[in-house]
Amino acid sequence: MSTTTGKIGVTTENIFPVIKKFLYSDHEIFLRELVSNAIDATNKLKTMASFGEYKGNTDGLKVRVTINKEAGTLTVSDNGIGMTADDIDKYINQIAFSGAEEFLSKYKDKAENIIGHFGLGFYSAFMVADKVEIRTLSYKDGSQAVCWTCDGSPEYTIEPIDKAERGTDIVLHIAEENKEFLEQARVDSLLKKYCRFLPVPVVSGWEQEWKDGKYVDTDRERVINNTEPAWTKKPADLTDDDYINFYRELYPGQDDPLFWIHLNVDYPFTLTGILYFPKIKNNIDVQKNRIQLYSNQVFVTDSVEGVVPEFMMLMQGVIDSPDIPLNVSRSYLQSDSAVKKISTYITRKVADRLEDIFKQSRQEFEKKWDDIKLFIEYGMLTDEKFCERAMKFVLLKDTDSKYYTL
Ligand code: ADP
Repeated sequence: MSTTTGKIGVTTENIFPVIKKFLYSDHEIFLRELVSNAIDATNKLKTMASFGEYKGNTDGLKVRVTINKEAGTLTVSDNGIGMTADDIDKYINQIAFSGAEEFLSKYKDKAENIIGHFGLGFYSAFMVADKVEIRTLSYKDGSQAVCWTCDGSPEYTIEPIDKAERGTDIVLHIAEENKEFLEQARVDSLLKKYCRFLPVPVVSGWEQEWKDGKYVDTDRERVINNTEPAWTKKPADLTDDDYINFYRELYPGQDDPLFWIHLNVDYPFTLTGILYFPKIKNNIDVQKNRIQLYSNQVFVTDSVEGVVPEFMMLMQGVIDSPDIPLNVSRSYLQSDSAVKKISTYITRKVADRLEDIFKQSRQEFEKKWDDIKLFIEYGMLTDEKFCERAMKFVLLKDTDSKYYTL
């Protein structure tokens, strides 16, 4: 094939300045978007293989984030399905963005809604890069590797290249004002935030070892994530220690939790997660260590107001639901009916669990009462449904430290 050029199919004259402008404050999410795409590409390959549509090797699937300071680039690489020139044309060039201007003016305060909503994930790269290359080889037999290059104007170039390995490298030529993303420490902190529990290994940098009085890189790649966090497993396969260890992984340096609840629903919405009743020592821990919201193991936010009832803001842990859109604003969450159902479900589950513990082991319940009473009483005051349920297990203590139900 020969080199071709073309114009990206956006209806607005030039979408990139818009993306940059509106999304300026949140430009770090580009990394989440690109790594998520890379993970999707590896998952698609696995799916193809399971249907027999791909006969090659699917061992060692992973995503790598590489910084090259001299070249000024940050590269997200995967060995997933890759893309042909036609795929690029279909999925990258033809952005379905009808009514873009109207949409943008409506949502300009909620910039995050734009991304994701319109499949602009990949284009978030232009928030930090002044030139982006896609170097990719499709899994399809006999494919020609190609490189798509775009400098942030709607014009792009696509040309054949040599690339031996299946998959995609997204090369970002980081813009002058975003040089922070060429620092490994900055990239590490983003990967830790967004990619900590992704289902495919994400590697960046190298393991280090102590040698001749300093830390030096080894040739072992450093894996950022835990690909099988506890909430993705079956409760029957987990011991108390597994739950406690996962808690420690989430909130290092905290006292161990009092109880936990493993959530698992697939109808009428899909939701998994583990919620913990923490041993609350002070307000700072409550503020800092909050429930984290994930969508298919991708971190979305830890502002869960609206998803869980207010009194549960004292709980900790993880909620994962693909039904909660990746890019959410608080007002959106509060008005979404799926989210309301989720909140009702969680309240019921928490009440069920407390009642179970109360019935099965009143002694244990009493022992922890002083720690959980704040939570339960707050819940009873603010949530009618919860109050009804809690009447059965709320306790009162007399001066001899004997406990009574109502
Ligand atoms: P979305 O992921 O929401 O569909 P994106 O703009 O992030 O939107 O990506 C558009 C499409 O480009 C994807 O759906 C996928 O088909 C393709 N794509 C993006 N990144 C990759 C990648 N690393 N490997 C293979 N295909 C990719």
